Amino acid sequence: MLAVHGLHVRLQTERGPVPAVRGLDLSVDRGESVCLVGESGCGKTLTALAVLRLLPSPPLEIAGGSIRFDGRELTTLPPEEMRRLRGRRIAMVFQEPMTALNPVFTVGRQIAEVLEVHLGTPPSEARRAALELLEQVGVPEPASRIDAYPHQLSGGLRQRAMIAMALACAPDLLIADEPTTALDVTVQAQILDLLARLQRERGLGLLLVTHNLGVVAQVAHRVLIMYAGRIVEEAPVEALFAHPRHPYTRGLLASVPYGVAEGTRRLPAIPGTVPPLEAVPAGCPFHDRCPEVMDVCRRVEPAARRPGPGVTVRCHLF
Ligand code: SF4
Repeated sequence: MLAVHGLHVRLQTERGPVPAVRGLDLSVDRGESVCLVGESGCGKTLTALAVLRLLPSPPLEIAGGSIRFDGRELTTLPPEEMRRLRGRRIAMVFQEPMTALNPVFTVGRQIAEVLEVHLGTPPSEARRAALELLEQVGVPEPASRIDAYPHQLSGGLRQRAMIAMALACAPDLLIADEPTTALDVTVQAQILDLLARLQRERGLGLLLVTHNLGVVAQVAHRVLIMYAGRIVEEAPVEALFAHPRHPYTRGLLASVPYGVAEGTRRLPAIPGTVPPLEAVPAGCPFHDRCPEVMDVCRRVEPAARRPGPGVTVRCHLF
């Protein structure tokens, strides 16, 4: 359904353009959950925004590659057609619902508006549908919440309202950008269960952007690990957790806390930080943090290899 090939996103800086996403390939099938994982600053959100052509331009722009949705090329789609596609066929759930929802309209009005604008639904019918949507996403007593303003709802309920808005036009593809980051752990689990259930029941394609590997284990069919604007490993979720190949993936998995059963031990961390876009090192972009770095890694950027079925990895170890 969604096929991204060789996507390049460029950031204009005072010192000239710098690559922010570099030659990214990604696909999502109908009924499939794909997780895009990496630390902050790896280019995950930019990738999600690029698919919807929502990059703030300037300073960011799509500099190359192809984004096909149901066979249509999105990078060259006229703005009017792109607007029709957004919300209706591809919808997005943003990170922080408090900033994504409009504070001066009730949540019911905002959900109804999606239906009125995209499908031409009459206002009274749209309100009824908004009520049903709030019920479907598990908002308790939706009749008493439909006229609430975003600030009158808890973070979890706001995120449910955002999901209701995203689902209003029954999209084929849902892009969720760190949808649980701003929520406490219990509510996070509820929202993830909700997304997984809706994805199954509606046969949605789901592209979930996250840095949380617990979320990945719970939701993903396939996982893409991103570092410094590149996909460094792609694998089915079971394969990724059972045999992580790229040293970055191994570092991410090693740094997940697994409870206290092992007693007190220091949690391993990946040394250093993600390089800023304008200072990505030559060769393998991970080489200055990699525990297995070799000479060649400092000079030559590794090409994509396929060491197993459905697995792609960019590392000279393979
Ligand atoms: Fe580490 Fe080299 Fe592999 Fe990069 S290419 S991840 S530096 S071993």
